[in-house]
Amino acid sequence: MYDPPHLLKCLRNCLNKHDIKTEEGIMSWEHLRQFYEADSKRSVRAAPKLRDVHIVLGAFKRMKVKLASQVFSRSVACGMQLYADVGLLTSECAVTAKGLLRMNNAFDILNSSRTDQCPNRRPFSAATEGNHIQVLTETREWLRQWCIAGRTPAADSVKGMLITISAVLHLWESVKASLPALYTRRLNQDVLENFFGVVRQLNGANFKPNPTQFRHAFRKGAVSSMLLPSSQMNCEPDMDRMLGAMTMMAARSNQPAPEAKITFMPNPAPPILDVPVDQVSANVLTYIAGYLARKAGEKHSCEVCSAALVKATSVATYDREAFVGLKSYTGVGDMDIGSLILPSDKLYSLVAKTFDVFESQAASAMSRPGVLGCLQACVEDSAEWKAVRELVCARNSLCFMVKIFIRMQLHKLCEKVTAGAQKGANRQNRQYVKVSHRV
Ligand SMILES: [Zn+2]
Repeated sequence: MYDPPHLLKCLRNCLNKHDIKTEEGIMSWEHLRQFYEADSKRSVRAAPKLRDVHIVLGAFKRMKVKLASQVFSRSVACGMQLYADVGLLTSECAVTAKGLLRMNNAFDILNSSRTDQCPNRRPFSAATEGNHIQVLTETREWLRQWCIAGRTPAADSVKGMLITISAVLHLWESVKASLPALYTRRLNQDVLENFFGVVRQLNGANFKPNPTQFRHAFRKGAVSSMLLPSSQMNCEPDMDRMLGAMTMMAARSNQPAPEAKITFMPNPAPPILDVPVDQVSANVLTYIAGYLARKAGEKHSCEVCSAALVKATSVATYDREAFVGLKSYTGVGDMDIGSLILPSDKLYSLVAKTFDVFESQAASAMSRPGVLGCLQACVEDSAEWKAVRELVCARNSLCFMVKIFIRMQLHKLCEKVTAGAQKGANRQNRQYVKVSHRV
């Protein structure tokens, strides 16, 4: 069998170079590019992790497994599906979306390392084998139909994937009587690759250590628990979680706020722009509102608050709830939301209002001290805030949600400003742009 992470990269390269004919239609890199073009311009994105490096593959970036796994991810697949559903992308893009999702599911099964929420990421065991065998067998059949320029099987990487899927299925058949579970990530070479990466690092700039140097580095690494892989390591887990970065921000918001008193104008500018919220934004905002409700529920949870913040049903019904339905692990097309949370109408309105406040005022508030407090004050002035505030027992969890969301948006805005400052003609003025908070 082959190394699944390596195969994933090869298959990504294959899609990058050729249009692939499958039984459902044509999968094309062009569809992905169109999706990225449309999505990257938005303030709230369906696939926030997708960046230029995923689309325009440089020689070195090509080697990163992480970039390939973020392309074959649930966020990207569901995002493309959403855009195709609302008519912003052609229906042919849905074929590529479904293909990406299939690859994501198969790769999750071939790369299981812990018991995760997502059923596909759990190891082979008596409980999961039914699902795993079905997904892998279907993927194998689907890959066999792949056709590039009239050739079937399409490429060496496809053959490799077929062999690997068969090998894993056979392996599980032969060990399941004696093993309770099979973690498929243990079948690849990442551990070794990371280990040698650590040893190389401990040798400074010496990339070819001799045996003595290797022994010293090994001892040093072992005793000082430094066998942690570098942050730039090549082999990483598939982090297909939207808003993954927000956990970090949530942790930071637990720290006590600095004592310094910040004064700000309560109303920096009249909201001039009426920010249009189209179907895609409404869907993404619903997903974010659900995420915020879950995060707030981890800190404080009581029946009163849950009733105010969370929708009682577990089936997506509104148009704007389609994305949550797509993102759940129960599968594209099935509107059962699984383990995700649907926000109540009032909470959705509050999040949409926060978005509106941010979009219309952040740019002008950026140049003043206390941006966060300023924007938060604007949100607390609104009718949407008061409507939810009446229903919950603690104001804290509402503040918490609004703050996370504003921080998340601020973070993205700052990234945009910095990226803009680094480009072309503005380069000399980079410092100036940063200092003056120009957007
Ligand atoms: Zn409560």
